[in-house]
Amino acid sequence: MYDLLHRPGEMRERTLSVTVPDDLGTEIIAVKAGSVLTAELRLESLHDGILVSADVRGTASGECVRCLIDVEQPVEVEIQELFAYSEDEAFDYAVQVDMIDLEPVIRDAVVLSLPFQPVCQEDCLGLCPECGVRLLDNPGHEHEAPVDPRWAALAGLEGLGGEGSSQKEDVAGTGTGATEEKR
Ligand SMILES: [Zn+2]
Ligand SMILES: [Zn+2]
Repeated sequence: MYDLLHRPGEMRERTLSVTVPDDLGTEIIAVKAGSVLTAELRLESLHDGILVSADVRGTASGECVRCLIDVEQPVEVEIQELFAYSEDEAFDYAVQVDMIDLEPVIRDAVVLSLPFQPVCQEDCLGLCPECGVRLLDNPGHEHEAPVDPRWAALAGLEGLGGEGSSQKEDVAGTGTGATEEKR
């Protein structure tokens, strides 16, 4: 890239493959260390610096926050950043000792592009709160209707008083747990 420096109007295109040195992202989802990011770079020499445009692609892997299965998703971010010759504070990045360091720019852009709460699919139903099976794999999965808290109370009374049966039927008729009563 040295031939671009201080030569406004010059342009170069490069494709760069970078092996990610350490996880880029969060504990939930990240472009993992060892995976490859590809960057299609366009470097344009301007009067005050080098304008870098990049199309960065890779793959992030993580876990669905609802059902916990592994999730892989493509990462694609576009970056455009001016690396200025001057170290003026007006510019976020500067050309340093005739070099540009793309790493922090790519790192930030990739991390920001990752979903905060990755899901395997938008309508993931998560796990059954009772037995933990993944609901998407088990359509129609259900347990016997949970014991209505009012039932539980009556069951307790029953033991004490011994005349709970008539009350029981009243509750079953109004509640959603009626199916449980069929025998
Ligand atoms: Zn899921
Ligand atoms: Zn279950």
